[in-house]
Amino acid sequence: MSSFSPRRAQSETGDPLLLTPGPLTTSKTVKQAMVHDWGSRDAAFLKINKDVLTRLPEIIHGEGSYVTVPMQGSGTFAVEAMLTSLVPADGKVLVLINGAYGHRAKRILDIAHRETAIYETPEDTPPDPDRVNAILKGDPAITHVFVVHCETTSGVRNPVEAVADVVAQNGRRLLIDAMSAFGALPLDSRTTSFDAVAASSNKCIEGVPGLGFVLVKREVIAGAKGNATSLVLDLHDQWQGFEKTGQFRFTPPIHVIVAFHQALEEFWAEGGVAGRGGRYAENCRILVEGMQDLGFSTLLPPDLQAPIIVTFHMPKDLAFDFQRFYDGLSERGFLIYPGKLTVADSFRIGCIGRLYPKDMHAALAAVREVLVDLGVSTPLRSAA
Ligand SMILES: *Cc1c(COP(=O)(O)O)cnc(C)c1O
Repeated sequence: MSSFSPRRAQSETGDPLLLTPGPLTTSKTVKQAMVHDWGSRDAAFLKINKDVLTRLPEIIHGEGSYVTVPMQGSGTFAVEAMLTSLVPADGKVLVLINGAYGHRAKRILDIAHRETAIYETPEDTPPDPDRVNAILKGDPAITHVFVVHCETTSGVRNPVEAVADVVAQNGRRLLIDAMSAFGALPLDSRTTSFDAVAASSNKCIEGVPGLGFVLVKREVIAGAKGNATSLVLDLHDQWQGFEKTGQFRFTPPIHVIVAFHQALEEFWAEGGVAGRGGRYAENCRILVEGMQDLGFSTLLPPDLQAPIIVTFHMPKDLAFDFQRFYDGLSERGFLIYPGKLTVADSFRIGCIGRLYPKDMHAALAAVREVLVDLGVSTPLRSAA
């Protein structure tokens, strides 16, 4: 290691840039929105909250037919609330698994004593809609199908639209975990049929963590009374609270919601899904091409890669040490993510959050410098 200290990249507020799938780098204005106090039952906060709830369904073109039910907590709280409140005790869920979040849904359903069937594919392989069709035809007891839009474990984009068509043709109901895709990958409820979709404040809308939400068809939530397996995560009860009083049942994460409101303003100003998704796609393209120039290879082929987070194979060069690579990037102001795969030794770099093409170029320059520091020759010889 040289004693020279490298140039350090930073966000608008002097923080490291988070090349992670969320929590992620947020704008200064989103953070500044939080430096106040509000009463949780006061009109000023209730108006901000109502604005958020009313406008979220526009992102899936579901205004009028879908309602937003927010849930305090991280994204998993919303997924658990969705699954346990919308699947009745005598329901059965076909869980499509190709990563950690599919496995998590299965655990949630097991704990809630909901019957499940599993269709699992490797982490680099999306589910095949024809296979889903065959499973549904063969098991009339299945009432619901659960799918993850972008499996953040690998960054794979699952074929939600094709799965939705098959589920609808078989008269079953679809529940989507779109956590890391919501706001960046299009999901149009006018052409894609689903009962509910769960997401959170701290991913592609670029808010801070602390709020999950479920967009659910009005008639579906209205019919969900009594399903819940817990008081806190009872989506129907939470929805009833808003219908009756416009308020949360229990203390809301007020600052998170006010920041989320600001983040949504910035999301619309950027052009909604097209604008936000377009910037991420450009970030992703720069990242992948730059890493490939250095000799890294991606887990996924371009047609399966969502512009959210990219999994790279760990280089074979013995001089490459992931912890030192991570630390070198961190010293330069970039935080990346370790791999979470069973199919390959890997690490991940995210392209979402308040990051622009210039930040991706700077990250690539930092990667190149760190490789030189580690004594790894580039381009890498055999990456995979
Ligand atoms: C982030 C994420 C979640 C929720 O994770 P939390 O840590 O609970 O916020 C769920 N599903 C997917 C696909 C995700 O990317």
